[in-house]
Amino acid sequence: MKVPILVPNIFDHPFTYESGKLNLKLGEYVIIPFGKSKLTGVVWDEFEKENKKEFLIKNVISKLNISPLNKNTISFLNWFSKYNLIPKGMALKLSLLSGEAIEDVDIKNFEKFETNFKEKFFDLTEEQDKALNEINKENNKFRVHVLQGTTSSGKTIVYFAALKAIINKGFQGLIMLPEIGLTKQFEEKFKEFFGFNPAIWHSRITKKNKKTIWNGVSTGKIKVVIGARSSLFLPFKNLGTIIVDEEHDQSYKQDEGIIYNARDMAISRASFQNIPINLITAVPSLETFENIKSKKYKISKILSRFRNASLPNYEIIDLNKIKLSAKTWISQDVIEKVTKHLEKKDQILFFLNRRGFAPFAFCKKCLNNYLCPNCSIHLVYHKNNKNLLCHYCGYKGNLKRKCISDDICDFVFSGPGVERIAEEIKKIFPNQKHIIFSSDTMNKKSSSKILEKIVNNKIPIIIGTQLISKGFHFPNLNCIVVVDIDLSSQGHDLRGAEKNLQLYHQLAGRAGRAGKPATVYFQTYNLNKNVIFDITNKNPDIFLKKELELRKKNSLPPYQRFISLILTSNDERKLQKQSIKFKNYIHSKLDCLVLGPVNAPIYKIRKNFRVRLLIRGNKSLKVQDSLNLSIKNFKFDKGIKLSVDVDPISFN
Ligand SMILES: [Zn+2]
Ligand SMILES: [Zn+2]
Repeated sequence: MKVPILVPNIFDHPFTYESGKLNLKLGEYVIIPFGKSKLTGVVWDEFEKENKKEFLIKNVISKLNISPLNKNTISFLNWFSKYNLIPKGMALKLSLLSGEAIEDVDIKNFEKFETNFKEKFFDLTEEQDKALNEINKENNKFRVHVLQGTTSSGKTIVYFAALKAIINKGFQGLIMLPEIGLTKQFEEKFKEFFGFNPAIWHSRITKKNKKTIWNGVSTGKIKVVIGARSSLFLPFKNLGTIIVDEEHDQSYKQDEGIIYNARDMAISRASFQNIPINLITAVPSLETFENIKSKKYKISKILSRFRNASLPNYEIIDLNKIKLSAKTWISQDVIEKVTKHLEKKDQILFFLNRRGFAPFAFCKKCLNNYLCPNCSIHLVYHKNNKNLLCHYCGYKGNLKRKCISDDICDFVFSGPGVERIAEEIKKIFPNQKHIIFSSDTMNKKSSSKILEKIVNNKIPIIIGTQLISKGFHFPNLNCIVVVDIDLSSQGHDLRGAEKNLQLYHQLAGRAGRAGKPATVYFQTYNLNKNVIFDITNKNPDIFLKKELELRKKNSLPPYQRFISLILTSNDERKLQKQSIKFKNYIHSKLDCLVLGPVNAPIYKIRKNFRVRLLIRGNKSLKVQDSLNLSIKNFKFDKGIKLSVDVDPISFN
């Protein structure tokens, strides 16, 4: 019998094989000969459409002893491939493990997932209980429910309880989190509630763990997975619900390699599997907000914070009225306020979203900037590591550079990064311990010890980047100083305002969590105070409504579909010529607006030049279909690479 087999590679269609004596059903994993090698493949739902050439049909070698990939998951992967313009084979690759399916795993490896701890009883507040009841309605079919609650309002316990009801019916559950850095604190919370271990899935877990989890999920031995984006593609045997925590978080967007939005794809997977999905957030993304307004999604709100803690107060410190002395960034006003907080044993956070010591370095003599040789961006000076670093490609430059007249350059460092603020803090508060909280300092093995010290208030002053806004729980943090509220990205980026709203809302949510009064101080040169009032309003819906109207008026997402096409090459001239030719070609084939080509704002990354096109069209899969067809028919010159980004978030 002939069977269609999809293999995890760049092809967009299954290949036809002969099953021989094997009795093969949809979704079963097989080993097949492919070229000169052997590959793992899956029995797919459709044969290749145009099978013009007469291929010799080979025999399937063997069938693997694994429960088959279910029909709904196959339909989801087909749709995923169509929506994101990703070859079907590459979509399948996401659900396998380096191209493999895992047949056998030692039963001992599953012990830790079965351990039964004593279950703890949790008391829910009236609001939490109401939300839980609303979520539990219609829990046996597809629907999207948004659980919106102020930071620290106890949303987690509510969705844990909803998940528990579904697990008790014999189903599996998936909880998605945007940041792997958070999983430790979260895992503890989970164990306390459920009494067993969840499986943790992200790119940095060991191969052995991955094998155990992949197999455990496909056999149903593992009940709950907590995972990053890629967990969405695991071959669950009997998935009963998906929860997307911090649904507004833009790190759900995978924007390199295979480009997709994991939150949106989770909703689609839930729809194909006909299971309920819950989106959790303090401030919904604009897309989600629109779906709530149009009643496509249901919503429950929790307005009061844990132990009735109130949200922090805001104070704006106008830097135009204060003279900061040279090379300092913290005003006398703030110093006095912080001193008072320190006397009360409050923990302080100085927030600045810039890693390193200084974002620019230029020479006093030749006036040249220090740019990355591979990318068209400034190198950031990292004083602690004594180097200049490119935050895009990781290039490290040293500070000795040949200047005019055989001299070496004499650098001036312009602007502050967190390291520079830390130096200033040390001068102002010499007797207080401080720590830098950024991806440079917190992605190491020792970071869990540092976290513990911060939680226990052993370190009174933290200087942090946006990493700290991501859901950490520091009970003594009652004072946040935003060193410079940077609203500069507004205007260039259609999501600039939304990004700021999310960032400052999350950031403020770190303060006052244990019920003590807390304040956020904004130092700013920005004279338009309304912007700050808007993004710090305790009711974020006001801002979201305004922003949504603006998007509607200008026909922007979520009212239109944007698709970015990014052409890259190390040959600049070839790229420029080709991009015009490509634009003219797809313009003639597509029934929508095609903008560009324009040089990308970051024109060069990793030695490759980048040119962007933007398609603006209806929210219909037809756009993707016709685009896919025209891309397949266009012959790109050698050395030109195209990436397609559907629903782009970054326009760099
Ligand atoms: Zn670089
Ligand atoms: Zn110089």
